[in-house]
Amino acid sequence: MRIARFSVDGSVAFGVVEGSDGFDGAGAPRGEVTLDVIKGHPFAEFERSGRKLPLDKVRLLPPVLPNKVVAIGRNYAEHAAELGNEVPEVPVTFFKPSTSVIGPGDPIAYPSFSEDLQHEAELAVVIGRLCRDVPLERAQDVILGYTCANDVTARDVQRREQQWARAKGFDTSCPLGPWVETELGQDRIADGIAIQCTVNGAQRQLGSTTDLIRSIPELIVHVTEAMTLLPGDVILTGTPAGVGPLHDGDEVAVTIEGIGTLANKVIKRG
Ligand code: MG
Repeated sequence: MRIARFSVDGSVAFGVVEGSDGFDGAGAPRGEVTLDVIKGHPFAEFERSGRKLPLDKVRLLPPVLPNKVVAIGRNYAEHAAELGNEVPEVPVTFFKPSTSVIGPGDPIAYPSFSEDLQHEAELAVVIGRLCRDVPLERAQDVILGYTCANDVTARDVQRREQQWARAKGFDTSCPLGPWVETELGQDRIADGIAIQCTVNGAQRQLGSTTDLIRSIPELIVHVTEAMTLLPGDVILTGTPAGVGPLHDGDEVAVTIEGIGTLANKVIKRG
C-alpha cells in the first residue's frame, strides 16, 4: 500500500494511492492515479473514506513530518571510494533537521555559501512506532514503510567543515516522497531494488540495495541503541556511487524500484 500526504482546498490529509505505478521522465505518474482519503492517521489503525481525489488535483507534501532524519554515510563501498573515503568500521551517522525536509516538486534552494551542490539518491526508511534498543529480529516491526530521499549536500562545505550540520542540514536539503510504500519487504530489498538518480533526464546514479554495506535492520539496531525513534522519523540509508553536481534550474529525480519517483528543481537566488 502507498500512503501519500497532501493538501487540497487548504487542508492536509493522508490518502491511499490507487492506480498506475509508472512514471514519465519528469517523475509524473502515467495514467489515472487517485487518492482514497484516509479517516484517521496512518500510524494507527485507519479506514479508507471512499472519497477519491485525482492525484493531479492535489499537492503532494512530504509523506511524513519527521521529528528527526537520521542519515547514514558511506554505506555503499563504491560511493565511499569515489570520494576518497574508506568504508568506516562504525557507520557514519548524522542528522538532517526537520526544517530541511521538503516534498515532491518543492524547490531545492541552492545555498549562498556553497559552490558545489550535489545530489545523493537514497532509500529512506519511515519509522512507524516509538522505539528504542530494537533487537535485530524485531527491526521489521518498527518500519512503517519506505520512500525516496535526496540527501542534498554542499560538498565543498562538507569538505571544509568538521561537522556536516550546514553542508547537509540547510533548508530544503532533504526532499522526501512521493509517498510511503508499506509493502516492500526485507527479502525484496536484500534481493536488490534499483536506486536511480537523473538530472535533466540523464542518468547520474544507478545502484542496488544488494550493495548496502549495513542492512536496514542493522542500521535500526545501531541508531536505536543510542536514541528513541518516533513515528514518522526517517533513516536515510546512504547513497550509491555516481554523486555529482547540481546547478540552477536542474531537475533532479530520484527513482526507487517499487516505490516511485521524487522530482525537485534546483533554484539559485540572487
Ligand atoms: Mg548521503
